[in-house]
Amino acid sequence: MDIDGVLYRGHTAINGAREFIEYLIEEDLKFICVTNNSAKTPTEYSKRLNKMNINIGENNIINSGIATVEFIKNKFLKEKERLSAYVIGGDGLISLIKESGIVLEENNPDLVVVGWDVNFTYEKMKKASLAIQRGAIYIGTNPDTTYPSEEGILPGCGAILASITTASGVEPIIIGKPNPLIMEMAAKRISAKKEKSLMIGDRIDTDILAGRNFGIQTALVLSGVISKSDATMSTIKPDYIFEDMMDLYLNLKKSRER
Ligand SMILES: [Mg+2]
Repeated sequence: MDIDGVLYRGHTAINGAREFIEYLIEEDLKFICVTNNSAKTPTEYSKRLNKMNINIGENNIINSGIATVEFIKNKFLKEKERLSAYVIGGDGLISLIKESGIVLEENNPDLVVVGWDVNFTYEKMKKASLAIQRGAIYIGTNPDTTYPSEEGILPGCGAILASITTASGVEPIIIGKPNPLIMEMAAKRISAKKEKSLMIGDRIDTDILAGRNFGIQTALVLSGVISKSDATMSTIKPDYIFEDMMDLYLNLKKSRER
């Protein structure tokens, strides 16, 4: 399941989120949270959820930063002894990259790795674009064009990626939802069987499409960014639509008691 708009909004738990997670634990149903936001670490997510009495450990949370580093390790680090990257992103992403043994380098890196960065500048765009033109592999953590906040709809990682694509003429490899790569990693971590899995999210273009691309059933909750009329107008149809986690939880409970 996704986190933002599904389990909480800002600092407020969504109706039924706590009950749903308690039910999953009681019934021994495996679950994992998959978020495209790479700014916070799983530990930080876990702490925030625990404060809302939603008990989810850090091992049950994966973000697009972790998935990106895992992808780089499996795909590129095996072949090369030394791998360097120019990284645009928050502290969380930068420390993950460093921990994995990838060397940070600005001028002639093997990779350009881009996540959401509130300190993004023309200078960073320039460095990324020059490196990509010299042949560095261009990787983005997630495609989300916007990010909802108290101020309104803010530019997301996708907006930063678009500027570098415009400047360099190169499209990035994107790891986060709707790419099935992050879903595969998440499923593997909890040994989930595809035919018995459900993806829960509040966005059609990332969550529901990710579930669809991965080949599992999908449930849309209307507690986040999408309204019922948006959902019915979309060409991508989720298998189920619920008002919120309480609605999903009560329906799941009923169907399992049958
Ligand atoms: Mg969401």
